[in-house]
Amino acid sequence: MVNGNGKPLKSKVSGFHELNADEKLELIKKFSDLTDEEQELLRKTGALDINKAEMMIENVIGTTEYPIGIATNFLINGRDYLIPMALEEPSVVAASSYSAKLARPMGGFVADADEPIMIGQIQLVGIKDLREAKKNILLKKEEIFDVANKCDSILVKFGGGVRDIEVREFETSRGNMIVVHLLVDVRDAMGANAVNTMCETVAPLLEEATGGKKRLRIISNLADRRLARSKAVWNKDDLGEETIEKILDAYELAVNDQYRCTTHNKGAMNGIDAVVLATANDFRAVEAGAHSYAARDGKYRPLTKYYKDEEGNLVGEIELPLALGLVGGATKTHPIAKIAVKILGVRSTKELAQVVASVGLAQNFAALRALATEGIQKGHMRLHARNIAVIGGAETREEIDAVVRKMVEEKAINASRAKEILEGMRKRS
Ligand code: NAD
Repeated sequence: MVNGNGKPLKSKVSGFHELNADEKLELIKKFSDLTDEEQELLRKTGALDINKAEMMIENVIGTTEYPIGIATNFLINGRDYLIPMALEEPSVVAASSYSAKLARPMGGFVADADEPIMIGQIQLVGIKDLREAKKNILLKKEEIFDVANKCDSILVKFGGGVRDIEVREFETSRGNMIVVHLLVDVRDAMGANAVNTMCETVAPLLEEATGGKKRLRIISNLADRRLARSKAVWNKDDLGEETIEKILDAYELAVNDQYRCTTHNKGAMNGIDAVVLATANDFRAVEAGAHSYAARDGKYRPLTKYYKDEEGNLVGEIELPLALGLVGGATKTHPIAKIAVKILGVRSTKELAQVVASVGLAQNFAALRALATEGIQKGHMRLHARNIAVIGGAETREEIDAVVRKMVEEKAINASRAKEILEGMRKRS
């Protein structure tokens, strides 16, 4: 048996987790034929040092970095924000800033968010009488609240805790099932650990009440009680009536065609994920929740909405679940995430959700405007060309600028052309 590099080494490494980061890296170097330089690069960590990284996940050998860009011009609920965005894709930060600038004269973004209620699910199987089981669970409601809240006295101290329960019944091919929803106010946490603990703790009570057997006990990432919304108006004199019509045509395609709608929503997620990542929040949870919410009535739909107001201005709206935390998770332990939160200046997860939703709307609007008019490649490729120039071997800012200029002029943006241009330049100098 050989590995991906053709060496007779196995990926089954006993005791790998017991090695320190350096020893792990030494092993990876052998397995994957890393050079000394590559090993050194992996050793080089930034603000997130190896000890902190090892507290976050398992089997750590290094850290990775993303650029953080600041989106400017955001006015949300009358407050100015400078927004840190972490991502690798060119154009997104510039596009969000541009949309926010265009939205400012009409008052910027008006956003709101629900209370931070998360849903915990407890699955019970082998239920004989669904109606009787449901009745018995509801009779124990107060006791369930009590037991769940005792799991997290800190959360309760900060004003959170269980708010309600719901009982859902299923007749399935594997027999009757009940799923109990614990609706928990998680205040400034994302809430998964808090809710999962509560679900595990109250499950035996529910077994008693129903005569069933507990199975899954976990948070739902469809955080549809924790929605955030944002709205902005773009002036028809700034945008032009023709552009508004083109944007509305583009939006209508997303409403009617899932292939387009997926990309439409990806445009919004470009902005959303970047802020979620900058603040070290759980972007998988946000992604799963957003797309599930987009398909909530059985058809996958846009997360945003566009229409004209009475004066013919373009109105954009967004609504999606945003389970974000300012305490817990990595937000409080990742040194850069802490600074990102400070730059944002948000005081609650509700406020953070309002900001994130607004960036999602801004980014979606920017993509639609560009697509409906000049196409996105013009702006995008100019920025992307910088990456291509680096791939082609350009090292200094002067080299990168010169290679980009030439590639854009020739409309030939690819690594082999970048290499040729660079070689020509270097020969001449
Ligand atoms: P956590 O458990 O690290 O911290 C939350 C706790 O902080 C609360 O339970 C409370 O005790 C305390 N706290 C202090 N001040 C608070 C305040 N003002 N408001 C609320 N709580 C306060 O984090 P969490 O938010 O429960 O869990 C988030 C983590 O769980 C993320 O890292 C996520 O990736 C992970 N996770 C997610 C899933 C999922 O999404 N399906 C599943 C498992 C774990």
